[in-house]
Amino acid sequence: MAQATLKESELNILVSTNPAKGYEILGEIEITSEEEVQGKVTVARQAQPKWFAMGLKKRVEYLNKLNKLFELNKDEFVKRTSLEMGMPKELSESLVDGAIDELKWNCDHAPEILKTETLFEDDKEINEVVYEPHGVMACIVAWNFPLPNFVVSVSQALLAGNTVVMKYSEEIPLFSKYLEGIVDKAGFPEGVVNFIYGDGNIGATLSDQDIDFLSFTGSSQTGRKLYRKAADKLIPITLELGGSSPGIIFSDCELTDQFIENLFWQRFLNSAQFCDGMKRLIVHESLFDECVKKLETFANSKIIGDPTNLETELGPLVAERQVVKLEEQVKDALDKGAILNCGGKRPEGLQGAYYEPTILSNVKHGMRVWDEEVFGPVLPIVNFDTYEEAIALANDTQYGLSGYVFSQDKTLAGKALSDIKAGAVNTQNAHFYRPQNPFGGYKNSGIGRQGGKFGFQQVCQIKTIAREK
Ligand code: NAD
Repeated sequence: MAQATLKESELNILVSTNPAKGYEILGEIEITSEEEVQGKVTVARQAQPKWFAMGLKKRVEYLNKLNKLFELNKDEFVKRTSLEMGMPKELSESLVDGAIDELKWNCDHAPEILKTETLFEDDKEINEVVYEPHGVMACIVAWNFPLPNFVVSVSQALLAGNTVVMKYSEEIPLFSKYLEGIVDKAGFPEGVVNFIYGDGNIGATLSDQDIDFLSFTGSSQTGRKLYRKAADKLIPITLELGGSSPGIIFSDCELTDQFIENLFWQRFLNSAQFCDGMKRLIVHESLFDECVKKLETFANSKIIGDPTNLETELGPLVAERQVVKLEEQVKDALDKGAILNCGGKRPEGLQGAYYEPTILSNVKHGMRVWDEEVFGPVLPIVNFDTYEEAIALANDTQYGLSGYVFSQDKTLAGKALSDIKAGAVNTQNAHFYRPQNPFGGYKNSGIGRQGGKFGFQQVCQIKTIAREK
């Protein structure tokens, strides 16, 4: 994308490029005009009362039909994810599968979660709580999990009876167009699910419209701007933002090959473009040298290359601009005294947004790799002596999305899980990311939760009805 900026602004088109093959052009999509954005919001508003009045059973049928189409077209979703954003095929497959499972869970559980509940009753009156939609939801998302981002941000809202105007990141317009075609095939009534195309300017235009709810997944910088807009409109907003999640390795861990492999992927999966990836590693001083050495050896053994090749373990980043930012962050650390243990450069012989898996030690507060979110394959590692130091380092961040604790001592691990200030935490063999669990951040990582019954509640007005018997 980065190479195409001039052409885009001149011709009002988004040019999609392949980050794995020297930014060769994959296709073009016309940017939605301001009038068209307004038009989409208008049809979404017209469609919304009928969509809600249709009833949950019928809405579940539509979403189940859509999920069948996801399954039928799985290979194409996988291919497009790899091609446009550079995700290795195997990971792309598992994320598409995960999205299908999550949509199924939402469809299966919506009736139970959204049913009317009696909260008080005596011989004279009954008090019930009912779940009603907000109305028209604007949904703006990042590029890093193409199909999951749709399922997580949109499916619960639709099931609850909202209509949606959706904007994907400008990095994956062809994926978005393909998804729009599949949504069309599911036969939703006109105006229920609407797609628009463009960069942040079009996102800003969408957020200025007559909307009732804003759902945003992306950087904390953009999230802050949208929070102000939501405040002016006095509408609810869900913000799923950046992270700089810590991992703490306590002294009782055994650094087996399997342990190191899991640790590595906790950071470097998807070329480290995970909001909740482990972005800072905090290791007990007794294990520090061994841990750095083993991670370095493992990192050096990884195959970097074209994500559509099955043997590729690490693909490119999504765009040139991401590599440039990463280079600046690493340079800042090295200028301030960090030690480069491995990586720290673009691999030779590859054309595209590639960067070697990089490990930095002697990292300090005040370096950008510690203070900022790093959205690429760089892992800063620091050591600690006492438990208190480990927790202070873990919480030494503006973010609070997730956290990871490695210890064989369940009591110690349990204490650390509760002392880390983050929305979701887990020990090494447990996983917080499941359809039934809420996901969202503390601090600059966001506001609100998506997923499970908590996510459903977020996209609903919760109304109390008290009536005489
Ligand atoms: P970004 O904020 O630059 O862009 C995200 C989306 O917002 C894009 O669709 C973009 O076009 C749009 N946008 C940009 N400026 C806008 C504006 N002023 N008004 C309205 N819309 C605007 O983020 P990015 O770099 O594309 O994505 C990476 C970020 O997303 C990382 O920080 C990552 O941690 C975060 N993320 C968070 C989660 C989560 O669930 N917490 C999930 C995925 C990604």
